[in-house]
Amino acid sequence: MFEKVLVEKDILNSPHTQHILNKLKHNDPILINKVDEIWGKVKKPYLQKRENLNLFIGKKRGTLVKQAPDAYGLNGDPHFYFIHSYNCIYECQYCYLQGYFNTPDLVLYVNHDEIIKEIETTLDQHPNAWFHAGEFSDSLALNHITNEWSQYWDFFKARPEAKLELRTKSVNIKNILSLEPLKNVLLTFSLSPDEPSKEFDLKTPSTKARIKAIKKLSDSNFQLGIHFDPIIYSEDIEKIYSNLVDQLLENTNLDQINYFSLGVVRYTKDVYRQVESNYPDSKLHAHPYIKSFDNKIRYSKPMRNWLLSTVKNILLSKGVCESKVYLCME
Ligand code: SF4
Repeated sequence: MFEKVLVEKDILNSPHTQHILNKLKHNDPILINKVDEIWGKVKKPYLQKRENLNLFIGKKRGTLVKQAPDAYGLNGDPHFYFIHSYNCIYECQYCYLQGYFNTPDLVLYVNHDEIIKEIETTLDQHPNAWFHAGEFSDSLALNHITNEWSQYWDFFKARPEAKLELRTKSVNIKNILSLEPLKNVLLTFSLSPDEPSKEFDLKTPSTKARIKAIKKLSDSNFQLGIHFDPIIYSEDIEKIYSNLVDQLLENTNLDQINYFSLGVVRYTKDVYRQVESNYPDSKLHAHPYIKSFDNKIRYSKPMRNWLLSTVKNILLSKGVCESKVYLCME
């Protein structure tokens, strides 16, 4: 999976590092001082991830838990995200990581004790806070190698007032299924209808496979959330989202889905420049974008409103309660 594995020498012998190296069957990593001294220092084109991907393992320094942007999660509660990893093995054409970092090489941070400690400090100051993983990566895509979540489970079990969200497009749920379902830990899936998923979500598990994973978690009583994000314009949006919601609800207990978040495709200027250069012929460019109120590149406001209200109305017409639906980053 990785051409080179580079490990900070101070954490070489940590149990998490050793676990990852054993899983990768990689006994001879390159030892480095600090990830930040090398990772992203030289520009590596994003699409090189197809042929040559390196893995860095290190210790996250600086601020470990950060406030999430406005309109990030359900209204009312404070939202934070923490960083345990950078970059992703999948290749969604709209992914913002392509314009965010200088390199697609992956970083896994292994100082989970310190991350959890900072979550605890944040929670003491902000009771009922949500903590989101996967802001700069996919929370579960490499979980068969990293298996870090059991440690977080122990913390969140002891602090039921806090909420943890693990967001994914993967079906990598074997380790999760061996854990106890907790009311305050949500496994959340980004889902798109089959057609746009095949077109834009390169190298990810199919929509059908993701729904199968959701069903297994639902059958085992885990708490869930669904992100219909990004919604991308197509003429048959009503038909394809109606089919998707049917497939999902046939396979899931609606009571266990805590929320549906809806978001329309959007980019910062830098990310959009990368999307144009990496995927010049993509159907992502089929409908015009404008520069929006927050300088992001989006569809026009009437188009965004139409897409969001169409998908929201489909959910409501199929029995989803309005209080469970929120509009992300609008
Ligand atoms: S799964 Fe998420 S992080 Fe990974 S490539 Fe797709 S959008 Fe990016």
